[in-house]
Amino acid sequence: MSNYDPNVPMLRQLLGLQILGKLEDAGFAEEPQTRPLAKPYMAEKIYARVDGLPPGMKVQVYTTVIGDNENVPVEVRASGKDAIRVAAVYVTKDGKTRGLGKEIRVNRTGNIEDICDRMITRMRKAWMTCKTPTLCKCGAPKFVTKNNKLACAELCWLSEEEKNKPYNPPRKRPYRRRWR
Ligand SMILES: [Zn+2]
Repeated sequence: MSNYDPNVPMLRQLLGLQILGKLEDAGFAEEPQTRPLAKPYMAEKIYARVDGLPPGMKVQVYTTVIGDNENVPVEVRASGKDAIRVAAVYVTKDGKTRGLGKEIRVNRTGNIEDICDRMITRMRKAWMTCKTPTLCKCGAPKFVTKNNKLACAELCWLSEEEKNKPYNPPRKRPYRRRWR
């Protein structure tokens, strides 16, 4: 099989189609965009699977694939810095998505078949994370916070009022009005 080269459109298209084919074979489906976009075909396709997992659990794949074959071809984004990202997530009762572990990156380098195989390996790992999470005493899974701590995904130590309070980040510096 071909070595992936982001400068060759045909190879971007080939990799894009291979990625989507593997995801569909694995029972993954495209997730709807969360907000309306002027050019939805330019948005990165996100695939996910919940079937077979405990309630709330989801494996998500950020594909780097764009396109609809009408406005633009289906292909991976050209930027070499982009990576496929695989995430094990939990969707809370009020609809918030929390990562259960670190997002796993799959670099798009080397042989196209190997890139897809690496993606599948990482998807299996995320699947196991969803199947065997660390559980809070309330029954919800724990997720990894920004400070790398494990915390209840349903924030069960907070009252309903505290959960819904908007977050006001503390100001680092005193606010000064700038004259422009
Ligand atoms: Zn809890």
